[in-house]
Amino acid sequence: MKTAFQSIKGTFDILPDKYVAEGTTIFGSSDWCFVESKLRETFQRFGMKEIRTPILEPTELIARGIGQLTDIVSKEMFAFERGDTNYVLRPEITAPVMRAYLEHHLDQKGGPQRLFYIGPCFRAERPQKGRYRQFHQFGCEVIGSPDPRADAEVIAAMMAVYRSFGLADTRLRLNTLGDAESRPRYREALRAYLEPYAGELSEVSRQRLRTNPLRILDTKDEKERRLLEGAPVLTDFIDHESRRHYEQVKMLLGDLGVTFEEDPYLVRGLDYYTRTAFELESPDLGAQSALAGGGRYDLLAKEIGSEEEVPAVGFAAGMERLFLAMAAQDKSFSASPNPDVFFVALGEEAERWAVKMANAFRNEGLIAVIDLKGRSMKAQMREANRQNARFAVIVGQDELAAGEAQVKNMQAGEQKNVPFSDLLRTIRAEREAMIASEN
Ligand code: AMP
Repeated sequence: MKTAFQSIKGTFDILPDKYVAEGTTIFGSSDWCFVESKLRETFQRFGMKEIRTPILEPTELIARGIGQLTDIVSKEMFAFERGDTNYVLRPEITAPVMRAYLEHHLDQKGGPQRLFYIGPCFRAERPQKGRYRQFHQFGCEVIGSPDPRADAEVIAAMMAVYRSFGLADTRLRLNTLGDAESRPRYREALRAYLEPYAGELSEVSRQRLRTNPLRILDTKDEKERRLLEGAPVLTDFIDHESRRHYEQVKMLLGDLGVTFEEDPYLVRGLDYYTRTAFELESPDLGAQSALAGGGRYDLLAKEIGSEEEVPAVGFAAGMERLFLAMAAQDKSFSASPNPDVFFVALGEEAERWAVKMANAFRNEGLIAVIDLKGRSMKAQMREANRQNARFAVIVGQDELAAGEAQVKNMQAGEQKNVPFSDLLRTIRAEREAMIASEN
């Protein structure tokens, strides 16, 4: 039966346990916590610190930062007006991070800033597997250094993330986009080459020929791909300094043992990139094969109002795609923690005792749960079982009178009487022994 309201298509609820929706496995909240904490660990090993920016940003920031003619800005923004302000639900997090960097003068905090983020993004795309309207990105930005070692560091951090989840089977494509002049020169050369074939292009590509011909390089259309084989390549339009920078990035990646393929057609969909551009793919993702992408964006700061150029490099990755890749490879996550103790209480007085005792257990750092429905003993025991509690503590009128509870070890099935005064100590000791034998 359909309920009155459902989540908007292309958005998902993250529930305590995983479930399948629209043919996709939506992982549980404990899986998310596990992945997020592993991400934090990996980023922190690179000396990176977390930044959290608002989900709402000024539309102008995104439009100027990412570029008016990109797909994201021209047709995928959730933007609205309220009073005299234009808001957008952020479609990515790099421009917001750069805004925050400039706004808070983080450049004055010394050294390049190494920042990482994890959070929701929004794009009004046609939802399909791996492509959603609310999705989550994680990534990092190294801001304030033009050094090729910064580029290598960002790529190394990205690779370390996927390695930490046991995903080694990835493909890294690398390119250089050159400086601010290289791209416009190349854009015109590509336009001039494709113009005579305009009639053979798809409608989308024909439109891109006018607005943003570089995007045609991303085409999946076989006929267009063949056409592109004779097209000029960006590599031939790159300035000398960018070439040198690129050679150094490649050398450093070689030193780090990072394998990559050079792809002169890789341009990325966002306007702000200069020099290094890269994309990481997984063979397990089907049509939406990009796990992550990034590059150097030395022009972004000026684009959004900085007087000085601020050299920076970063990557952004999709959380949901990481989950999809992990699921395809049967990678496991940590289980969500189950109750240490489930209190089975019978009668009003025992219920009151359980409320108090459960809290005493929590104050000692244990997970304690009580029944809230006044059910029969059998039903409460069933609930303890369903919740995978380690112990059930059973208390009724007789136990209260005797000052002893019945303690059932749910794994071993053994049951014994324990005086109230010994309850915490006994359960803690048995729990520790249990955990030791599990590891
Ligand atoms: P982009 O900023 O477009 O390069 O996106 C960076 C990464 O975010 C991509 O490589 C994907 O993993 C992920 N991503 C982008 N758009 C979506 C979307 N609509 N749904 C899910 N993941 C996305």
